[in-house]
Formats: sequence, structure tokens, C-alpha cells
Amino acid sequence: MPIASEMTAFDSAKALFSRYAESLQLEKRYPGRRLHERLTLPDRSVEFRLTLQLDRGDTLITQGYRVQFNDDRGPYKGGLRFHPLVDLEEVKALAFWMYLKTAVVEIPFGGAKGGIRVDYENLTLAEKERLTKKYVLVLGDEIGPEKDIPAPDVNTGEREMAWIMDAWRMHHGRYERGVVTGKPVAVGGSQGRTSATGRGVFFCIEEAAREMKLDLAQCAAAVQGFGNVGRHAALFLHQAGVRVTAVSDVHGAIRNSQGLDIPGLIRHVQEAGQVAGFKGGDSFARDDLFFEPVDILVPAALENAITAERAERIQARLVAEGANGPTTPDAIALLGEKGVTVIPDILCNAGGVTVSYFEWVQNRQEFYWSAEQVDHELRAVMVRAYRQVAAEAASQRCTLREAAYRLAIARVADAAHRRGAQ
Ligand code: NAD
Repeated sequence: MPIASEMTAFDSAKALFSRYAESLQLEKRYPGRRLHERLTLPDRSVEFRLTLQLDRGDTLITQGYRVQFNDDRGPYKGGLRFHPLVDLEEVKALAFWMYLKTAVVEIPFGGAKGGIRVDYENLTLAEKERLTKKYVLVLGDEIGPEKDIPAPDVNTGEREMAWIMDAWRMHHGRYERGVVTGKPVAVGGSQGRTSATGRGVFFCIEEAAREMKLDLAQCAAAVQGFGNVGRHAALFLHQAGVRVTAVSDVHGAIRNSQGLDIPGLIRHVQEAGQVAGFKGGDSFARDDLFFEPVDILVPAALENAITAERAERIQARLVAEGANGPTTPDAIALLGEKGVTVIPDILCNAGGVTVSYFEWVQNRQEFYWSAEQVDHELRAVMVRAYRQVAAEAASQRCTLREAAYRLAIARVADAAHRRGAQ
């Protein structure tokens, strides 16, 4: 076992899995099947060279990744991250969490993840399109509507998903909308997909607040990250009467103890590209956001944001993990000791993949749902999953995170067992 400082995101993810899987006694339940090993090793992981001709004439060479972790419960499914720090270990961790997440909300998918190691924001539009399409062409038959279905993640969104569908069509010579989810509605996307992850985060917060007897109208919240997930989570909290008093992005943070005008802030970010400079709040140091005097904290940026050091100083009573893996293993333990309720990522941010599933269903039927229907079905899935996890936590006297892992691992182990030994 690597020492803590050398642990990759994937090492930490596996360590957590092992801890929570222990009480399920997989080896006793399924003798000789080595399910623990099966569920902690990716089915397939690929790293490949990507070459991109830049507009100014020279060539960028970088790495692409796709990890297909587990398809015991259904086709591989998982987002695509374009970021300068992406590496294979991170993609493995994200793919690992993905198959657990689809099991927590009981949608019939497995888990995968992909990425490109690139400073995507600084490419031109034409370069972005060429790079995204190249990724699809290199993967060839590895992605497809019944095999592995990508979706948005950090720095990718509707635009990239439409490019992916187009590249797949060029390569295969036929139209298949369900090859990717998170597309624009104009080319077969679902109503409500863009806001789905943030909406799911909000539904979980509502459920937790009810259990904790927190009156949302009296609560203040801080949100780290103002991209797809953070922006929508902040908006739904604001609409429910929560005072969102602090928000950050990679460039900085702003606060207003009376509550930020979130729709106004969204408009400001659309124009200025960052939260700083918003007239309705004061700037402060980005990473001080974690220590704000709030009831609810939503990390919605990248992994390992809440370290043990930061966890010590967190004042919030409820942490809703919008991001994947935002809390380090040490911090998880510390927040537990402090009595902070944490809604774990594999439950809290599952709204995105849930509406991705709805999109895939609509694509297969070529019959499209209204925004109201999508929201109604999403709420049903998230509330059911939250309550199952909360009931498991109560009966096992464990945290919501351990309960979510227990349910997910048991479901995937059962599916793996039923599919047979070979
Ligand atoms: P995004 O690219 O839309 O936004 C990321 C945001 O985080 C940006 O505002 C960026 O400025 C900010 N950020 C980055 N580093 C930061 C830092 N150090 N401090 C403060 N802010 C920082 O990405 P997204 O799609 O919103 O994804 C955010 C997280 O949610 C990721 O962990 C992702 O895996 C997870 N997630 C996303 C989805 C989805 O549907 N998009 C679904 C499930 C989980």
C-alpha cells in the first residue's frame, strides 16, 4: 500500500472501497469469486497519443484516456474531462466512482470516464472541435450507444457532446443520437440535462435538511466552483430561499452576507468569465471560502478540495459533494468526528447521469419528454436513492457515505455474480 502522500486519487478511492466493502464479506457471500478484486480493477483502460494541428501551424502532442471500469449492470457510462492535470490515475478514480454512482441511483449503466490532458480553455474554437473529434476517431468502436456512452464533465458541455455525435456519425456512417448524452436539445439532447447535476444536488440538500430539521429559508450556503454543477446548485438553493453568501471559481471568490443575487452573478460570469468583479459582492481569497460562517457547503470544483486542514476549520453542518472526490480520506474521518453531515458524491451528484439515462432512453425511443417530466422523474430517482441510503445509514449506524458504498457494492456484486464466473 502506498504511503498517504504518494497515494493517487485511484489509490484513495480503492482504500475507501475496501474499508466499506469489508462488512459486506464478499468472499464469504460469493466464495471463490474474487469479487473484491473484480470490482477494484478496471475492465479496460487506454492511454493514447493525440496529435493536434494548431491554427498557427505547429503541432500539439498530448495524451487521451478512456477507462471502462465496470459494465456488470449495463453499458459503460461516464464523462469526459479536458484539463491540464488529467492523468490515467485520475480517470481511473473517476470511472470507479461512476459505476458505484449508477448503482446507487439504480440506473442500468456501468461506469467509465475519459479525458484529455490539455489546457483546453486556451485553444481556439476550431482547435477545440478538431481535438474533440480526434478523440472520438481514435477511440473508434470503443464508444457506442450500447457499449460506452460519454457525457460532459469539467470543461466539456453541450457543444463538445454535439461534436462527439457528429464525429461518431462520420466514422460509422450512420446517425446514432444515443452515442453521447448531454447534447444540445437541437440535436437530440434532453430538456433539463444541463441543470440536472445541480438540481440533483439540491434535491439531496432538501432531503438532508428535512432530516436535520434545518429550515432552508433560514440557512446560508457557500459554493466552491461556479461551472455547470456549482452554478446550478447555487441557483436552485437561491430559488428555495437559501442565502448563498459566498461563491468561488478558479480565479477568485466573492461574498455578501445578505446573500448574493445568483441570477445576476450568472449573467456577470457569462460576460466577465469569472465571479470576481461582480458588483453585488466583495472579493476575498479563493480558498477561504471553506471557512465561511454558513450552514451548507457545496464543493463543486475538483478532487481533494477539502483537506484535513480545511476540514478542521469548516463551520458548515452539511456538506453536499457536487464534485467527484472533493474530500480527502483524512478529511472524511475528521468531518465525521466533528458531526458534519456529508452527502457523498456518488449520491449527491448523480442527477447528471440520471438525466443522461433519460436522454439515452428518449434517443432510443425518439420520443421526447417535457422539462416538467424530466424534473419530476429526476426528483423521484434522487429522493428514492437518498432515502434508501439514509435508511441504510440508520440501520447500520454508519455515515451516508458508507451506506451509499454498501448499497452500490452489494448491487454490483450481485449483478457480477449472476452474470457468471467467466
Ligand atoms: P465545469 O468545468 O463546468 O466547472 C468547474 C468550475 O470549478 C469552474 O467554475 C472553475 O473555475 C472552478 N474551479 C476549478 N478549480 C477551482 C478551485 N481550485 N477553486 C474554486 N473553483 C475552482 O465543471 P463541472 O461540470 O461543473 O464539474 C465540477 C465537478 O462536478 C467535477 O468534479 C465533476 O467531475 C463533477 N460532476 C459534474 C457533472 C456534470 O454533469 N457536469 C456530473 C457529476 C459530477
